[in-house]
Parts: sequence; structure tokens; C-alpha cells
Amino acid sequence: MSAAVRRPGALTAGALAVAAGAEFLHLAPAAVRLPPLRRTLARRTAGHGTAPGHVALTFDDGPDPRSTPYVLDALDELGARATFFLLGAMLERAPALGRELVLRGHEVAVHGWHHRRQWYPAPVRDLRELRRAAEAVTGLCGARPLWYRPPYGVLTAGPALAARRLGLRSVLWTAWGRDWTAEATGASVYATARPGLTGGATLLLHDSDCTSAPGSWRATLAALPLIAAHCRTRRLTLGPLRDHRVPPPAGRNRPV
Ligand SMILES: [Zn+2]
Repeated sequence: MSAAVRRPGALTAGALAVAAGAEFLHLAPAAVRLPPLRRTLARRTAGHGTAPGHVALTFDDGPDPRSTPYVLDALDELGARATFFLLGAMLERAPALGRELVLRGHEVAVHGWHHRRQWYPAPVRDLRELRRAAEAVTGLCGARPLWYRPPYGVLTAGPALAARRLGLRSVLWTAWGRDWTAEATGASVYATARPGLTGGATLLLHDSDCTSAPGSWRATLAALPLIAAHCRTRRLTLGPLRDHRVPPPAGRNRPV
């Protein structure tokens, strides 16, 4: 199956807003009649930050011993820190790498246990798997996760509610490099991401090819210096979501 088919998270901006609004539609249907609020919530779930000049750098699908160490070395060279959305099944096989992420100053977050489509209601399974993944991140990495990003970027009601019960904030992204395709190169990833690299953006990349075209992480790796140089010349700071100041969902008086 092609990467394009496997990755329905690769949505247009409009479809992304719909996906980002799924949690809201389920949790607060009465407010659907309030389009400005709906747009605000979709925007928050998408990962728009309010820290001035900050771009959140995020990686999905690791940790992967074949590729994540190269990404970590590149980030050290660039002086950048990031948020890594981990898969429990990957972390279980590479726990030392999970700890290393934290020791090298990065933020760890939850991407699920398996990279599973979650488009059909399975609330018990959703909660069980998400709890297992969150506990693995906490126990094996030594840092409690604050964020959840669903596989494929499709946030349906079950995982959204499970995340909320576990104290995780759901967040998607505002920009990507389409680094999961077989055709991706460092230049193509940078060119795709560049228009979205503005203050408040959340950039989606991948430090593993476990759900992508084999070797595609090398394109991600090659793009990192280009992305960092772009941000440097525009006085933008690349950093983790914890520094991004994503506004809390409406109705809450503190971020979780
Ligand atoms: Zn993923």
C-alpha cells in the first residue's frame, strides 16, 4: 500500500481543521453553533503556539535505533530541542533510547501503542492502549508526557476522550515536510515545510520509517539544517511544545 494511502493524516488544511475539530464536536456539540469558537478550538488542537517567534519541532513514530540517534546528533549540532511523539511498541524495544531523549533535553510525548487507525469507536481499547503507552513513556523515559498526537493525525472521539482522562493534551500540527514518502529528499522536505515555518507553527517530521517509506528518515535528517537555517535567518526559535505556549482548551483554567 502506498504511503499516500497509508497516511490519511496527510490532509489538506481544510480537512486538517475538520480533524482537529473532531474532539470539540464530540465534547461540546452545543457550541457547534459558535463558528468563531469552533475555529479557535480547532486552531488550538492543531498546535498553534503563542510564544513569540517560536516554532515547535516535533517528530513522530520513534524511538528507532536505526534512525533516531542520527536525528539526535543533528539536533545537538543545530542546538535545537524537540518533542518526540513515541509509539509504546517502539519504546518497549528501545528503552535506553527513550531515556536518552530526555537526558539530551528533549520532550517525550505519546503517539499511541501501535500505529493503529482509530476511526471506529472502541473506547475501552482506546483508553487501555493509550494508558499503556503513557505509562511506558513515563516509566521508561523517566518523564511524564503532556501531549498526545493520534496516528495519521485523525483525532476521533474515543482517543480524544482517553487522552483527556489521562491528562494529555491532544495536538496535531500546522506544517509538515511530507517526509514519509519514497520520493522525499532533504530539499523537498524543506521546500514543503518552508511556507508554514512562521512564529507559532508546529512542524511534523518523523524520526523513524516504521510507518513510512524505507529510509525516508534520511530525507528528514538532510532537511534539518535547511529548516534550522531558515528559522535562524528569520529569528525564529526551534523548540519543543513545552515552550510553545499552546493555549489550553476552552473551559479549562490551566494546561494539562
Ligand atoms: Zn505516526
